[in-house]
Amino acid sequence: MRQTKHKQATANEESMLRIFTVPEAPDSTLGRIEKEISQNIIGFLNEHVVAKEQLLGEIEKDFSNADVPENPHFVSDHTAFLLDKLVAQSVHTASPSFIGHMTSALPYFMLPLSKIMIALNQNLVKIETSKAFTPLERQVLGMMHNLVYANTDTFYDEYMHSERCSLGAFCSGGTIANITALWVARNNLFKATADFAGIAKAGLYRALMHYGYKGAVVLVSERGHYSLAKSADLLGIGRDDVISITTDENNRVDVNAMRQQAKALKDQGIAIMAIVGVAGTTETGNIDPLAAMADLADELQCHFHVDAAWGGATLFSKQYSALLKGVERADSVTIDAHKQMYVPMGAGIVLFKDPEISSNIEHHAEYVLRKGSKDLGSHTLEGSRPGMALLVYASMHILGRKGYELLIDRSIAQAQYFASLIQSQTDFELVSAPELCLLTYRYVPAPLKALLQCQDPILIEQINECLDDLTKYVQKRQRETGKSFVSRTRINPSVYGGQAITVFRVVLANPLTTESILSDVLAEQRELAKSSEIALPKLMSILAQWQTNS
Ligand SMILES: *Cc1c(COP(=O)(O)O)cnc(C)c1O
Repeated sequence: MRQTKHKQATANEESMLRIFTVPEAPDSTLGRIEKEISQNIIGFLNEHVVAKEQLLGEIEKDFSNADVPENPHFVSDHTAFLLDKLVAQSVHTASPSFIGHMTSALPYFMLPLSKIMIALNQNLVKIETSKAFTPLERQVLGMMHNLVYANTDTFYDEYMHSERCSLGAFCSGGTIANITALWVARNNLFKATADFAGIAKAGLYRALMHYGYKGAVVLVSERGHYSLAKSADLLGIGRDDVISITTDENNRVDVNAMRQQAKALKDQGIAIMAIVGVAGTTETGNIDPLAAMADLADELQCHFHVDAAWGGATLFSKQYSALLKGVERADSVTIDAHKQMYVPMGAGIVLFKDPEISSNIEHHAEYVLRKGSKDLGSHTLEGSRPGMALLVYASMHILGRKGYELLIDRSIAQAQYFASLIQSQTDFELVSAPELCLLTYRYVPAPLKALLQCQDPILIEQINECLDDLTKYVQKRQRETGKSFVSRTRINPSVYGGQAITVFRVVLANPLTTESILSDVLAEQRELAKSSEIALPKLMSILAQWQTNS
């Protein structure tokens, strides 16, 4: 750490005004600090291992003073503190052996380009604070809309820069995108009539009274993301009104079960606010049968939303876009640019098939968002917003569709390779095969793998419970050791009759992850499993007991 200066920074008018003035000399403090930060960050990003686990409690000690500092600190001193205490203890999401989450490496150009966004500090809520950025954001929405719906040039000419409606909305992430989509669905279902002001003005209770419904629900597979429950809560229908529908052995929603459930609810006087298809489930990356769901939505005459927060970018790939067939019939679609579009955190997108539908959530105010203005804020949930669209725009140009296609195809090929590597081991079990670049698996000592084929459900259940402990142990130790990281989750594969089991979850989105890293991950897990002092001996005693009995 840099030596703390003895000179004390002081708060006076001159010094406070100075920190808002961009220093011009190349050798200025700014230049020096920037260089130091850049070098440090690049050093951090080039480390091949995940940061050594420091107890969270220890890190908390560095961040536990509730007093606002009385006196100013020098920027250089403060930067040194941040590099030492914050950067050094951060998670290496960019490491090629960090393969457990949807957050991974960024293209290098994001770092310098994001400076433009911060330097200009535009506020996308209204034109008056974001001239040029507003048209740019509308173009990005148009490009993404085109990717999903492939409308005509005339359509985009008419709607891209229309002040009346919007092709979609930019927001901070998939959660807000899903909330916005269901908000539109709700307001469209309970729209104004000759003798009803519409739900936006009159609220849910009066809307239900007016339309004569006993309630309203959203139907989604049991693999639906928890943000849908949050949305339901916020929109006043309640978390219990997100109805979970069973899935098949590939984690895809059972559309017939959804149909029956929807019809039963309708018969009880409940309105179907929306059915939601998942394109890339968070746990296993599977895609619902979207075309069949679009048919169902037609039958039910209800809103069809597709949560493609993770899988949406698959549309860039000619080879794999067909997996999302039917998405073009969705009334709304969520895509997270900060996931498989390799844009920094804080970039979600919701798209509307019919741009006019966004008028259901339109909001105007006198000093901003005046009627007839092109302010984006009149159709968004959020108010003040940064110019993140710039980074999506840049990325779509610098990578191009073909660049994205290459990355998507590569990550799926990588997942397929890893799946076959797992299957070729005598002591690993592939639990969910990859449809996109996600898969789940677990370590199962070879003799127990054979035993799991037996016909005794009680024995299988007992083995699975011990394996859960082993998986948890290995995942935790692997994270703490810090060489690599996979996450874990619980799923209920049909091979075990619906019993929930704990599995390793891998997301292969980092283009720099190599085959040898993947082999090392398995080798490390095997070694860690052997070091287990509780779960492994327990499994071995189950095995020994079975061998004596039979
Ligand atoms: C990530 C994800 C979300 C939530 O997105 P955030 O950007 O984390 O708010 C919603 N649905 C699915 C399927 C996701 O993968």
